[in-house]
Amino acid sequence: MSIVGGGLAGSEAAWQLAERGHQVVVHEMRPGRGTPAHKPDRLAELVCSNTFKSTETSNAHGLLKAEMRLLGSLILEAADQARVPGGSALTVDRDVFSQAVHDRLTAHPRVTIVRDEATALPSPGIVATGPLTSDALAEAIRGRLGVESLAFYDAIAPIVARESIDDAIVFRASRYDKETMDGADAGGAYLNCPFSRDEYEAFIDALLSADLHHGHEFDAVPYFEGCMPIEVMAQRGRDTLRFGPMKPVGLTDPRTGRRPWAVAQLRMEDRAGQMWNLVGFQTRLRIPEQKRVFTMIPGLANAEFLRFGTIHRNSYLNAPASLSPHLSLRDDPMVLFAGQLTGVEGYTESTATGLVAGANLSRMLHGLAPVVPPPTTMLGALYRYLREADPRHFQPMNANFGLVEPLPVEIRDKAKKRAAIAERALADMAQWRDAFMAAAPAAAPR
Ligand SMILES: Cc1cc2nc3c(=O)[nH]c(=O)nc-3n(C[C@H](O)[C@H](O)[C@H](O)COP(=O)(O)OP(=O)(O)OC[C@H]3O[C@@H](n4cnc5c(N)ncnc54)[C@H](O)[C@@H]3O)c2cc1C
Repeated sequence: MSIVGGGLAGSEAAWQLAERGHQVVVHEMRPGRGTPAHKPDRLAELVCSNTFKSTETSNAHGLLKAEMRLLGSLILEAADQARVPGGSALTVDRDVFSQAVHDRLTAHPRVTIVRDEATALPSPGIVATGPLTSDALAEAIRGRLGVESLAFYDAIAPIVARESIDDAIVFRASRYDKETMDGADAGGAYLNCPFSRDEYEAFIDALLSADLHHGHEFDAVPYFEGCMPIEVMAQRGRDTLRFGPMKPVGLTDPRTGRRPWAVAQLRMEDRAGQMWNLVGFQTRLRIPEQKRVFTMIPGLANAEFLRFGTIHRNSYLNAPASLSPHLSLRDDPMVLFAGQLTGVEGYTESTATGLVAGANLSRMLHGLAPVVPPPTTMLGALYRYLREADPRHFQPMNANFGLVEPLPVEIRDKAKKRAAIAERALADMAQWRDAFMAAAPAAAPR
């Protein structure tokens, strides 16, 4: 069967299938057709930073990697081989890393690498063409799944942890008390951070003087109104935000009985209400600047950022609206998607979905049902997000503790809480692996 895209997810998926006895053809369009980010023509290229982030299970990325090690990841083995000093992070020599993946795959007797651009969806197969999916294939995906299914730009606003929001300042309400969803919280859908005039002016000053991330050339996004960065809007005039995403109309602060001068609204991101999205705050501020400026928002002084804002070129599917729980076409379970294209964000997350996609395609080729890990694990929690997030506001997601199923008993101490979540996650992942991830019989049917 075919895998389209020899990036992180495609390489991992190919390895998982080949190791389970299947003949695999990987179609990689480079070097014949390049992307604006990939430079050499090796497989599994790290397009930007050279780190897979933390190795500690008290960190969401560290926990995800620990889970992937239980499942046997080629990409992590190659990363270990290419490791350079990076403190607690898994930092690699990018050339040694991608050469290691390249060598392992090209030496595998059941893997064939073909250098061509796929323009159609393979069945059975896995599409792992990443954030810079070629135009022709993007067209084929839209043709199959609908024009609305595939986004091309990622305008991401920060997400903060519910428990870090100050309830003494923030109030819950929907604008004009309007709520259209049945069963929604009677108090209103949004958490509202009320600004006084002075607080607003200081916030605008900080926003206008903040340091921006200047990305690669290809990051030059033609902003359209719906994803205008907050700092660009602020440059249009000091009151632009007060009449835009920070408008206070229809909101009364219960503590003063008055309408605030401006309001920053947070919208619930997950059903458990652990993650809250700063509505309209998509941004290109550097991460330390996001921390500095956005913690000036009343009620967010101690905010824990589960995800920071970004804007960049990124093709991704609206997974909750268009894919099955194991990330396939709904009308053909053997056409799977993996990697950043599915709406996960980051090297490790992309690789992890490639790993599960490879194992699942093998299961299906053996007549077994596809499976995904439980939401008590970081990887299973990511799958749950891709399945259950609100399709109207769907945005890519990286691993974070806010996604994971809450513990049955609340633990207040953050370090102890994370340790308990990690312990449960690794135990559940080991159990899940033993139940479902055993290598399939050597003689594969296809
Ligand atoms: C500019 C940029 C910077 C980033 N920086 C970071 C970072 O620092 N840290 C981080 O964790 N994440 C970063 N990301 C996200 C990162 O791209 C993903 O995390 C990761 O590379 C995705 O893995 P993937 O396998 O899904 O896609 P990729 O690794 O991009 O692999 C996709 C492959 O598919 C190929 N391809 C595309 N279309 C076709 C086609 N039609 N036929 C055949 N082959 C095709 C491409 O050439 C590519 O090799 C960045 C993304 C971008 C765009």
